Amino acid sequence: MCMEKTPWEKAVEFHGHVCPGLAYGYRAAMEYLKRMEAGPSKDEEVVAIVETDNCGVDAIQVLTSCTFGKGNLIFKDYGKNVFTFASRDTQEGLRISLKHGAMEKVAPEGWKELREKLFSGGEVKEEERQLFKKHHAELTQIILNVPVEEIFEIKTVKVDLPFKAKLFDSVQCGFCGEGIMEPRARVKEGKFACPECFEGYRSRVN
Ligand SMILES: [Zn+2]
Ligand SMILES: [Zn+2]
Repeated sequence: MCMEKTPWEKAVEFHGHVCPGLAYGYRAAMEYLKRMEAGPSKDEEVVAIVETDNCGVDAIQVLTSCTFGKGNLIFKDYGKNVFTFASRDTQEGLRISLKHGAMEKVAPEGWKELREKLFSGGEVKEEERQLFKKHHAELTQIILNVPVEEIFEIKTVKVDLPFKAKLFDSVQCGFCGEGIMEPRARVKEGKFACPECFEGYRSRVN
């Protein structure tokens, strides 16, 4: 019998491991999908704006089909666990942010201390490593099951979305010879230069 994978299993398969970060990305995406499902417009194109590039974003890509390649996954490097989902048509969306300290609040007793110990680079006993692994798995399950309001701040927002991915002409870099899309090309010594050659730290290929 062929069993259809659950959305969580699909996210884990894509991400490669089970972790609390993947779990809250999953919860955020599910929350948006649940609300959209209940709304009037299921067929609109969704755009996801993520303010982190951590584990959670993998769940978002799998569940919402917002991906870099399609141009409907926008990464803002703010280092914040904030995920905004919006409809391309109405520009209406949902901003879901992980509450500061939420992980510590729901985590098993001792998780935070152990994590600090593990990541501080000091001496860690094997039993502590095992215990942390257990805590990590427990925390993942907790995040998958707590009421969303406990870990997230959720707001409806209006989002200024950029236009759809455009097709650009390609020009040739006068230094490395590779093609670059025109708006990213710079001019150096009277020739087109790709950003790498312009900045001068292109990795050498031998
Ligand atoms: Zn992960
Ligand atoms: Zn170049």
